[in-house]
Amino acid sequence: MSQHKTNLIDYEQVNDLLIFKWEDGFESYIPLRTLREKCPCANCEGEKDVFGNIYKGTIKANSKESFLLKGIQPVGYYALRPFWQDGHHAGIYSFEFLRTLCENQKDN
Ligand SMILES: [Zn+2]
Repeated sequence: MSQHKTNLIDYEQVNDLLIFKWEDGFESYIPLRTLREKCPCANCEGEKDVFGNIYKGTIKANSKESFLLKGIQPVGYYALRPFWQDGHHAGIYSFEFLRTLCENQKDN
């Protein structure tokens, strides 16, 4: 587990990017497309069996609407839940997970 503070203090959508501001001063962004592709819900992420095989669900993010946001709902003080225009909203993105996405984004 990482030890840095992962408290998200602000977020803002700018065109097809989501900008995140963190408590420790770190700022970064995630393209909406990446955010959707990394959706952590059981359907998108898939469920692993004991052999490590991943079974994905039937909902595929393949339309233009799949990568457009309708809105974002905070979940407690630890996560965000994006509502996508194709109707998908099962993914709960914890701050810790978002922070990891941000940091991976920076490396690219
Ligand atoms: Zn999903």
